[in-house]
Amino acid sequence: MGFTAQGPVRAIVEKVEQVSPSFRRITFGGPELFALGMDGPALDQRIKLIFPGAAGTLPELQQRPDWYREWLALPEAERGIMRTYSIRHLAQTVEHTRLSVDFVMHLGEGSSGPAADWAARAQPGHEILIFGPHRGQPQLGVEFNPGRAREVVLLGDETAAPAIARVLEDLQDSGLRGSAYIEVPEITDTPHIDAPSDFQVHWLPREGQAPGARLLPALGGHLSEEPPTSEKDPELVWDTPTDPGEGTYYWIAGESGVVKQLRRNLVQGAGVNRGQIAFMGYWKLGVSMRG
Ligand SMILES: Cc1cc2nc3c(=O)[nH]c(=O)nc-3n(C[C@H](O)[C@H](O)[C@H](O)COP(=O)(O)OP(=O)(O)OC[C@H]3O[C@@H](n4cnc5c(N)ncnc54)[C@H](O)[C@@H]3O)c2cc1C
Repeated sequence: MGFTAQGPVRAIVEKVEQVSPSFRRITFGGPELFALGMDGPALDQRIKLIFPGAAGTLPELQQRPDWYREWLALPEAERGIMRTYSIRHLAQTVEHTRLSVDFVMHLGEGSSGPAADWAARAQPGHEILIFGPHRGQPQLGVEFNPGRAREVVLLGDETAAPAIARVLEDLQDSGLRGSAYIEVPEITDTPHIDAPSDFQVHWLPREGQAPGARLLPALGGHLSEEPPTSEKDPELVWDTPTDPGEGTYYWIAGESGVVKQLRRNLVQGAGVNRGQIAFMGYWKLGVSMRG
């Protein structure tokens, strides 16, 4: 029988692929990763990754349900660095689990962070910790929930591209139709998505413009005069409906200020019921995330 766990597990880098200028796909495996898995589709399942901290080591955590409290109580130098990511691919068999994450390479001066830096240097054999759904346990951390809607619109930037890709591939044979609008840094940032034929995928290269410059006009909106950076609140916006009804279901994720504007445009500009919109800040301009 494979490894069972209740907390984060050790994940070993097996493969590193530069799939486009801004996306680096890292595939993890190893004996402990076997503990992760799920019965249902991954959709926009979020996972927590813990990277080595300044000392270059990963924290030693007990496999127990209150691991997070134990992690928070560690001295900062021993804790490592926690960030949230999505599952791009998950392969689970009776022998192993393999999981791929698409890391955005935001490596510019003043706009990089420990997670992007780690991914830029990752080599087979390197290790991190991953906390995600465990085999045989309830699957927590999925927000995509179109309910009775038959039409779905997905809107996001490059950080949401892996989740959107996973959702689309998991919607094969679902009978749902709709479209996806994905803003990416460069024109060649179009990693393959095996989307259902009833979905149209629109890639929107930003090519040096501000976040949201292509995404906001996609649904008839425009960038507000007030740039998203002016928001002082470090919290990410996050609201997901439990029963979105039968109208079009909107799923929005990306830079927090842009996501907020997109939702405002839909509600105030297009008259969409706010109960049909799931919106999630995945990162925030000028703000370093915390675990
Ligand atoms: C549910 C969820 C799922 C996510 N899935 C993914 C995923 O699959 N792939 C992925 O790459 N990201 C994903 N993200 C976003 C990711 O967690 C953030 O981009 C995070 O800030 C990266 O950590 P960092 O250590 O590199 O940078 P941080 O230390 O958090 O930030 C350092 C600086 O980098 C800036 N920054 C952060 N991200 C970007 C960016 N994309 N472009 C430009 N500047 C940036 C910040 O504003 C800050 O100034 C997800 C976030 C959430 C909440």
